[in-house]
Formats: sequence, structure tokens, C-alpha cells
Amino acid sequence: MSYVIVPHPVPSIPVQGSEQRFPVRRIYCIGRNYAEHVREMGGREDRDTPVFFTKPADALVTDGADTPYPPATSDLHHEVEMVVALASGGRDIAVADAGGCIFGHGVGLDLTRRDQQARAKQKGLPWDVAKAFDHAAPVSALRAVSDGVPDEATILRLSVNGRTRQESTLAAMLWKVPEIIVELSRLFELKAGDLIFTGTPAGVAALERGDELVAELGDLARLATRIT
Ligand code: MN
Repeated sequence: MSYVIVPHPVPSIPVQGSEQRFPVRRIYCIGRNYAEHVREMGGREDRDTPVFFTKPADALVTDGADTPYPPATSDLHHEVEMVVALASGGRDIAVADAGGCIFGHGVGLDLTRRDQQARAKQKGLPWDVAKAFDHAAPVSALRAVSDGVPDEATILRLSVNGRTRQESTLAAMLWKVPEIIVELSRLFELKAGDLIFTGTPAGVAALERGDELVAELGDLARLATRIT
């Protein structure tokens, strides 16, 4: 195969304890998945219809790299989220089969241009400019399920410059991971290599250049990045 331009490299994430990397196909994200965060955004908690959006795979920031402050915003917000990586997929996945699709877990940041998102919500416009910009998805190395899995008591936490900004157990998720996989698979054919950002707890706030971020998913995954 030859191409008329140089093809882009496959985005990938390191795997803890392995020389091999996880190649990323798509990034799906669920919104409004922790009740207290829904309330802080002025919404009403409900489980009628999950809110999904996507980020491009090449928006990932990996391997502890710095995260550049994006253009076209003066209100860049952090959203710390558990990230689920799929080893297999399908359409119309049954809830009992959903867990078997998971390769591993990590922790990531659904970085958001909050001012752009507010404008989009007001006008009924898409969220791409708010959510899918370059470097919008810093993510930790993945922990394979064979090396440990999170449970309801696992704590998702983000600190900025050493102070805790967001902290919750996974028990507070409105849509649990198997349910998210089921719902997504009704809308898209999921495949190996897909990532799912599973929503953020309360405490989202603005970031500044120079901020040092540390995100943790219990003792399973840790992400450190600096806003530059
Ligand atoms: Mn989010």
C-alpha cells in the first residue's frame, strides 16, 4: 500500500508492566454521569437518555507529556474520568457480555472549553469545539484487567498543584460501565481499540498555564501532566 501523503501514526497508550502499547481507534465519552456534577452544571439528574459525544483519537496526550493550553478559550476546565479500554466490541452487546469486552482501565481528563460549551448549549449547537480540540484527552497508562479492576469503592481523584479538586467513589456513577457499553453498542459498532471516558464527578473548575495535575484511579492508574 502506498499513500499520496504520509499516513498519520496510530495513536496509542502505554500498558502498565508491558512493552506493548494499546492502539486507539475511537474515543467515546458519556456526559452527566455523576449526579452532583449534573447539579453543579445546572441540570437535572436523570437516567432516561445517556449523553454521548466523541473526541478524535489523536487528541490523546500520553506518556506524561505536557498538555498545551488550547486556543479559543479563556475557561479551560478539568473533568477527571475513569477510562475504559476495549479489547473487543460488537453491536447490541448484552449487559452480561459487556464486562468481557474490557481490556483495561486508566484515568484521563476530559478537558473542556467551558465557555465554548456554554455558547453551544445556548444555541443548540454541537459540542465538538468545546470537547474535541487538539490535546483534549490526557490519559494515563492502562492497567490490564488481568492485573486488577476497579470496584464501586475505588476512588477517582484529581489534584491541581497538590490540592484536591475532584474526588468520588465509582459508586456515584449513574450509568455503570456495563450499561454504558450496552447503550453505546446500540448506537455504534464498538471495536477493539475503542476508549470510553465514563463521566466526571463534581468539582470541575478552570485551569491555568503552569498547573500541575495528578489524576488517580485508586491505586490502579495515575496520570500526571502540566498545563503549558
Ligand atoms: Mn466529561
